[in-house]
Amino acid sequence: MGKGFVLILSAPSGTGKTTTCNLLREKIPDLKISVSHTTREVRQGEETGVDYVFISQKEFEDKIANNDFLEWARVHNFYYGTSFQSIRASQKNGHDTLLELDVQGVETLRKMKYQGIYILILPPSIEEMRARLKKRGTDSEEFIQQRIETGKKEIKKYKLYDYVITNHEVENTVDIILSILRAEKVKVSHYSPPSLDIKELLKDGVD
Ligand code: 5GP
Repeated sequence: MGKGFVLILSAPSGTGKTTTCNLLREKIPDLKISVSHTTREVRQGEETGVDYVFISQKEFEDKIANNDFLEWARVHNFYYGTSFQSIRASQKNGHDTLLELDVQGVETLRKMKYQGIYILILPPSIEEMRARLKKRGTDSEEFIQQRIETGKKEIKKYKLYDYVITNHEVENTVDIILSILRAEKVKVSHYSPPSLDIKELLKDGVD
């Protein structure tokens, strides 16, 4: 059985990332989400081990020293990281895996030439992003401004990704992601002969 595909998704705050991921999960029930570790506080409705594994700064730094992370980054003064263990667990049985990373994490993985489908989701405008953050009502005005500034820096790094989707409407965004996944699966480089006779034919390597 193959290892399954890794979807690497980034979306600045206020882009509709959570709704997109939830709908994606609904549409691909087999999709495994890699649960990251973080030192940020738990938001209302979040659960440890489901949304994130919430740990202290000391615990996080011990894990860095232990080489437990495939990648990690500091975002808005908190640590976030993908542990080798979480990615191994989600890739079990050839399932496709979703990694949700900030742009620093993507830079790290690109440098490592980590195999995956890199997708950036963007808001239609900065104004729209600000409106969504305000509507969410979880952050102060100052923190919203900080998130917007981080978002602007992330948007400028769009060339790190294979695909960029403007999230006008979540259903449409998820449809595009599904199409990308389907197309990637039938790329020549991923072709696996479905029968022995076709496998034999391919061995001859006729041009
Ligand atoms: P939030 O606090 O809003 O859940 O996430 C803040 C940012 O951290 C988002 O951009 C999110 O994609 C990013 N993030 C979440 N988990 C990870 C991770 O494991 N690694 C990295 N590099 N970024 C992450």
